[in-house]
Amino acid sequence: MQSNAALHRRRLEAIPRGIANVTAIAADRAENAELWDVEGRRYIDFAAGIAVLNTGHRHPRVMAAVHAQLDRFTHTAFQVVAYEPYVALAERLNALAPIAGDAQTLLFSTGAEAVENAVKIARRATGRASVIAFTGAFHGRSLLTMALTGKVAPYKTGFGPMQGGIHHVPFPSGDVTVAESLRALDLLFAASVDPRQVAAIVIEPVQGEGGFHPTPHELLRALRDICDRHGILLVADEVQTGFARTGKLFGIEHSGVEPDLITVAKGLAGGFPLAGVIGRKAVMDACDPGGLGTTFGGSPMACAAALAVLDVIEEERLCERAATIGAALSARIAGFAGRNGLTRVSASRGLGAMVAFDILDDTGAPDPQAAKRVVARALDRGLIILTCGPLGQAIRILAPLTIPDEQLAEGLDILEQALARETGE
Ligand code: PMP
Repeated sequence: MQSNAALHRRRLEAIPRGIANVTAIAADRAENAELWDVEGRRYIDFAAGIAVLNTGHRHPRVMAAVHAQLDRFTHTAFQVVAYEPYVALAERLNALAPIAGDAQTLLFSTGAEAVENAVKIARRATGRASVIAFTGAFHGRSLLTMALTGKVAPYKTGFGPMQGGIHHVPFPSGDVTVAESLRALDLLFAASVDPRQVAAIVIEPVQGEGGFHPTPHELLRALRDICDRHGILLVADEVQTGFARTGKLFGIEHSGVEPDLITVAKGLAGGFPLAGVIGRKAVMDACDPGGLGTTFGGSPMACAAALAVLDVIEEERLCERAATIGAALSARIAGFAGRNGLTRVSASRGLGAMVAFDILDDTGAPDPQAAKRVVARALDRGLIILTCGPLGQAIRILAPLTIPDEQLAEGLDILEQALARETGE
């Protein structure tokens, strides 16, 4: 039998530490919300591959669609020979996305690639160069997207210079109000960049890595107005919020605001690498032939998987399920707060089944070290869970939306045990 420790030792030798591991276990197999390591230990998976497995590990519908595609062909490169699953998926996303008027979709492989291409498309469509993003945002680690990401360590440390033309405005969380964010944007326009030079404002409907802070609707509406006034394109980065996670197919739908471009990835293809940019046809069609594209983007297997994922979301009513899961999580976390014998926690926050809470020290300050210990204790007891937030102080829950109620409760029981204060702590 392989051991987790032996595999981890090989990993430390063969693979750089720049890609960090949350756990030191190695996966053997997984099914829906459960995962088994190479030593045969079972875990409840509240990480879902970082918000990818909204439809669970190996959903039977997704697996069947991928198997059928594997038996026909696996790759042509879409720009060499087109194929129906890509076209069908684009048509479906165009119809579903909250975009005003006609939409078009272009497919890629990763979230960062989708964001990069949204910026390229916005620059080409507007003829402008500058891009505005928010502090605390996460848009990826590639050369352009790390510059958009609103957090220095560890994402930018030593990787400069950053792409020019990118500006950050304070995101309204903590003690920053929406009015202050908007004031900062005004000052930016007055002091640093002419709004007529701005191609796009990029924003997550819920800041994900930044701590599961829902973006106030008031800010989204104001940004829509500002974009309309200055001819700027509004880009919703739905890489983490997309595909029923928040209780709607797209997180921005909660606000009623229609963006010009939407970036998607993660949950789109139920565990297969697929990303996309969906946007207003006039904007999407601005680039010259050959200006966009990748060899693997819109892989036939991933497109087949994504079509099945969209069916599953509809048929299993996963948007409603996300709201139910979210309510169950919030109720349970409310019960953790102020309980004797448990580590101090904040109130929960988030949207739908995208829920987080902070681990606090006795003075009420965020305690990232204690959050790390909670994650480790949860893993020892059979629960995979992640942190997030500017300091890594928050525990975030991203259970598959297909998780059975008993396993959701089992995972929360383990989380509660992991929150127990250790003697002497
Ligand atoms: N945007 C958001 C909102 C994300 O959460 C992420 C990944 N956490 C990305 C972009 C980058 O996606 P990827 O890791 O697939 O490049």
